[in-house]
Formats: sequence, C-alpha cells, structure tokens
Amino acid sequence: MKFVSTRASAAAVTPSHAIAQGLASDGGLFVPERWFSLSAAELERLSGLGFAELQAAILGRFFEGDPLEAKLGEISRAAFDFPVPLKPLAPGTSMLELFHGPTCAFKDFGARFLAMALSSGLESNGREPLVVVATSGDTGGAVAAAFAQFTRIPVLVLYPEGGVSARQERQLSCWGKQVRAFAVRGSFDDCQRMVKEACASAAWRRRFQLLSANSINVGRLLPQMGYYAQASLRMLRSTGGAAQFIIPSGNLGNAVACLWAKKVGFPIGRVVLAHNANRAVPDYFLSGTWAGRPSVATLANAMDVGSPSNMERVFHLYPDRAELCQELEAVSVSDDEIRAAIRESYREFGEVLCPHTAVALHARRQRPADEPWIVVGTAHPAKFESVIEPLLGVQVPVPSALERILALPSRHERVEAEIEVLLRRIDSNRYKRLKSDAS
Ligand SMILES: *Cc1c(COP(=O)(O)O)cnc(C)c1O
Repeated sequence: MKFVSTRASAAAVTPSHAIAQGLASDGGLFVPERWFSLSAAELERLSGLGFAELQAAILGRFFEGDPLEAKLGEISRAAFDFPVPLKPLAPGTSMLELFHGPTCAFKDFGARFLAMALSSGLESNGREPLVVVATSGDTGGAVAAAFAQFTRIPVLVLYPEGGVSARQERQLSCWGKQVRAFAVRGSFDDCQRMVKEACASAAWRRRFQLLSANSINVGRLLPQMGYYAQASLRMLRSTGGAAQFIIPSGNLGNAVACLWAKKVGFPIGRVVLAHNANRAVPDYFLSGTWAGRPSVATLANAMDVGSPSNMERVFHLYPDRAELCQELEAVSVSDDEIRAAIRESYREFGEVLCPHTAVALHARRQRPADEPWIVVGTAHPAKFESVIEPLLGVQVPVPSALERILALPSRHERVEAEIEVLLRRIDSNRYKRLKSDAS
C-alpha cells in the first residue's frame, strides 16, 4: 500500500519511505492512500491471534509490497513482548493498560516499532542518520530506550527545562553517548519548533539525514492500532457490542490510531478525546472553528499540547464536520478534576492512576454508569509519584522495568531554544570528544 499527504499535493510513497521521511514534502502528514475493510470472517480469524501475531497481521495490510513486509513477524515479536491487559475496574468500566513496556507509557509501542523499522529498512544516503525528538515527557524516554536497544542511530532529545517529572527526566538522560538529552530553556512548543526548524534548515540537512520520531511519524501510529483492535475484539466476544474508548489526548497520535482501527472495521463505537486544560480540540467541537494556541502546563504534562498536529489527520479522515461530531466527542479536564479523579479511583476501585489516565476517568464519570466504556491507561502512576503520593498519602510501588532505568547514571545538558545554538553545541562536544579520544 502507498501513503499520501493530508495536503494531497505530494506524491504517494511506500510506508518505508513515509517512515524515513517523517513529514510529507508538501508539509502534510502521511495517511494511507486507501482503506480496506475487514470482513466478519477476517475479524473472527484475527480474534484468535496473540498480540504480536495480531500486530503483524494488521501491519501486514499496510506494508503490502514494502521491503519491510517480510520482516513484520520478527519485528512484532521483538517489539511487542510485554502484556497489554484489559482490566475491569467496575461494572461498565474497564482500563486498557498500555504501560507495561520498558518505559511504562504507551509510547513504547510506537517507538519500538519505529526503531526496528528504521534499523531494518533505512537506505543509507551518505549523511549521518540522526533522530531529533521533542518531548513533553514520555515520547523522549520511549524513543531513547527503543533506539538504544534496537539501533545504533544517535538521538537528540529536547524537553522543556522544568517541564517533566524527575523520573521522566532520568528516563530521558540515562542512555549514554548514543542519546543526548537537552533541557531547553523554553516550552514544549519551543522544542517542537526547534525540531521543525532543524528539519527545514540547510545547515542541518547538509550534515544529517534527519529522522522524525514524533507522533507525526506514521511509523508510530500504525503499531498503536493493534491494542484497540485486540480490546475491541475482546469486547465483542464478551458483550456482543462495540467497544467505546476514552483516550487521554495531547497530540492525538493515540486517538488517530483508534480511529484508523475503527476505519478498517474493528468493532469500535464512540470515541472520546479527553484533554487537559489545553482546550484547542474541545473548543473546536463547541465552535466549529479550528485554532491552535500556546500550550499551558498541567498535571498531565505529556498532554500539554496547544496545537495538536494530528488534528490534520482527524480532519482528513472526517472531512464532514457533522460526521466527525457523530463519531467523536472531546472534553477538557482541569487540574482540580484530575486530582479528584485520582482520589476517587483510589477510594472506589483501589486503583492508583497516573494524571493522564485520570483525565480519561473523569470523562468516564461524566457519562451514564450503565454504558460500557474502556478508559485508556497511558502511563504507569509510578512515573508521577510527585503528583500522586501527596494526594493519596501512599507510596506507589515502582515496576521493575522502571527501577532498572532509574538506577542508571544520567546526564543532561541545558540549551537555549535556538537550533543554531544546539548545532554549535553538538559540534563543540564532538570536537571535545575527538580531542579527548586523541589524547
Ligand atoms: C503522549 C501521552 C499522551 C498523549 O498522547 P497523544 O498521542 O499525544 O495524544 C497521554 N498520556 C501519556 C502518558 C502520554 O505519554
């Protein structure tokens, strides 16, 4: 299958190309050129598969004819080797736990597939491959961990200084020389701007084959369809009905994967986009006018996105606003409501939630108790102990995967929010390293 740009003027490319390229040449985002529709018999067959096999089967449809097609089984077995439980919390409410990967957030699914796809499929063009990734918390950790494990490609992680939790920061900066973590004097939006500017800059492009690992990369979105597929097939088997999801959302990469799973025929009903105080998407549903804005800092920091790029894919999928509003809802949840949801979940279900998942739980509680909803759990609460422990007065046990990472030595550098400064810094450090290697 080929991938085209949401802006429709760039030529169609193979999925391997779309992944290596990141952004389409006309500035749009890659989307599948056409959709397929799974039959009832195919859904039945898929519902008998284990998670890695299911992933390989779904991805196989998008990679038909691509050089990576033959490797999908092997990649899926290596990339998706952790559990994905669908856990009942109360009658009518269950949680799809996406935080059992190595960095304890759902970003592991996309980052691990992307790293393996790039390491197996990247055509060398003489320049040094380099991943530059902007992160408001979890993306950078997952990308750093995945690239360090599966590739030799160097990674620069940019995050807003003071804008991530202490444990998130350690996860960004513990990978040694291959991954350099930069605390940027600015916001997440500044970090994202720097990545865009680097990709457009002649000075950077002369030197590097820049690879994008942000959720605009279709290589991160496609492997996120599988858990919606699996959960919906489980719901169908147990209740006979479609699954309805409430998704903690920021840049909407996770939500787009769910909408794509629905589009190809998995039994998915309504989808709720649960945002924090960054209201661009909920306001669009109210007003009909799309306008990004500066991001505001909240307790659910990985969702602090003022102008979600993947909205362009949502509009591409539902060009008709009436249809969009019929399939989707969006809500905005305040920090006070996040705190209340964390307390209530602990009191009522004995379940400690991360602030992002709490956004979705709050949205669940606004909906009728007798409707079935799946709340998507996007991160493990132990990553946000500084928010949760004072609220609940209990210690959150640290999963062993996270404990291993937190025990590694870590090192980050501070930098101004300017790509020229960053490039000089990369060069000066390389020079120092060369000198010290020589001496
Ligand atoms: C990235 C992230 C989100 C938001 O996901 P998007 O795909 O950007 O909408 C939500 N929760 C957590 C924990 C995250 O890391």
